[in-house]
Amino acid sequence: MKVEQVIDNLKRRFPNEPEYYQAVQEVLESIVDVYNAHPEFEKQNLVERLVIPDRILSFRVTWVDDKGNIQTNMGYRVQHNNAIGPYKGGLRFHPSVYPGILKFLAFEQTFKNSLTTLPMGGAKGGSDFNPKGKSDAEVMRFCQAFMLELNKIVGPDTDVPAGDIGVGGREIGYMYGMYKKLRNEANGVLTGKGLEFGGSLIRPEATGYGNIYFLMNMLKTKGIHDLKGQVVAISGSGNVATYTAQKALQLGAKVITLSDSNGYIYDPDGIDEEKLAYVFELKNVYRGRIREYAEKYGCKYVEGARPWNEKCTIALPSATQNEITGEDAEMLVKNGCIAVSEGANMPSTPEAIDVFLKNKILYAPGKAANAGGVSVSGLEMTQNSMRLSWTREEVDQKLQQIMQNIHESCVKYGTEADGYVNYVKGANIAGFMKVAKAMMAQGVI
Ligand code: NDP
Repeated sequence: MKVEQVIDNLKRRFPNEPEYYQAVQEVLESIVDVYNAHPEFEKQNLVERLVIPDRILSFRVTWVDDKGNIQTNMGYRVQHNNAIGPYKGGLRFHPSVYPGILKFLAFEQTFKNSLTTLPMGGAKGGSDFNPKGKSDAEVMRFCQAFMLELNKIVGPDTDVPAGDIGVGGREIGYMYGMYKKLRNEANGVLTGKGLEFGGSLIRPEATGYGNIYFLMNMLKTKGIHDLKGQVVAISGSGNVATYTAQKALQLGAKVITLSDSNGYIYDPDGIDEEKLAYVFELKNVYRGRIREYAEKYGCKYVEGARPWNEKCTIALPSATQNEITGEDAEMLVKNGCIAVSEGANMPSTPEAIDVFLKNKILYAPGKAANAGGVSVSGLEMTQNSMRLSWTREEVDQKLQQIMQNIHESCVKYGTEADGYVNYVKGANIAGFMKVAKAMMAQGVI
């Protein structure tokens, strides 16, 4: 395999999809030596079959807004790879959604799901619908219209979607309701459902908590066993960011920042439990902006910027892709940051990753650190199949174990000659090997 040749072919076949090439390039550069050590992989052209999605569905979503105007959006589902289990991955509703973003996310999801040790393939989907400023009724009508098409290719043994940016418990509920209406099957086809209708305890918390569990595993390798004295910068203020902050606080950290797409807040006194409860309410009930936190608590708000210039010892990007540039990374390291653990998918640019690795700080890529979300989604599928619900403690314990296992896989495949653990390499090789072996065993299909 020659990485540049694979990327050139992708560019020719799928023009103007930079996030997709970025994700593929990062993975291929990590696995190229392992891949080339197995001539049987190349003989079966495994690399092309692995980087190109199995299937992409695109469709028009037509819905009626509150004024009676008829609106259209685009909807997509990228079914990337089901070698190790049914397609699984979130749905994103955001104006920036186009096939290139979903292809990068579905590709990443395939390796992430492999790392969890649960039997799940990789997929991603969504729409360019912007939920911001929409009424509850508009969101419901959009979700129903989206499911009118999506229901044709999902199923509990085929493809099980979940949430992502712009898709939380409310949207999952509306989509699941419509799925049942259309199919007359209460089979739990979406994860992240409400607790009253098949959801799992700890699912809302899982990505954020899982990221902190992964971080603790990394810190342990440096003899650090809690977060007391650590100053934590978090970006985002959605599902992942808020539960990341909650677990960080529980373990003694001082959390100093949160953000949204308009700007960030910096609270030098730390965001405590009470202030965080306000953020949960602000985001989930009033659907307000993080600026309002600064107005309420009288702290600094910086419009149009990300929080990486603030001095911290740990950075947990939890908003979106490419939100830490090379310059941001330099600033983080200069300010004494010892660990970066990614709640978001691909939040660090390639230049930023180079800076973290060059400076040998603890750096966990999203496909390892944020795998807790899909892991508990996998546990939700198991509970749905068994028709029972595990307790909070049971699910949390399983989540902690999974994050520990992922950490061990990264150490196994990513430890370099000088003892430094390259978690990017470790996660990519561990995720790849399982999918590759499964594809080889199942023939050329
Ligand atoms: P939410 O929609 O709940 O929150 C997203 C947050 O990120 C919001 O604060 C949003 O601000 C901010 N944000 C979104 N886009 C941008 C942007 N372009 N620039 C700056 N800020 C932005 O999503 P989640 O918390 O679920 O997802 C966050 C990240 O975590 C994503 O990368 C997602 O793929 C990843 N992830 C999520 C999982 C899950 O279980 N939910 C699982 C694994 C990964 P605003 O409100 O202004 O848009």
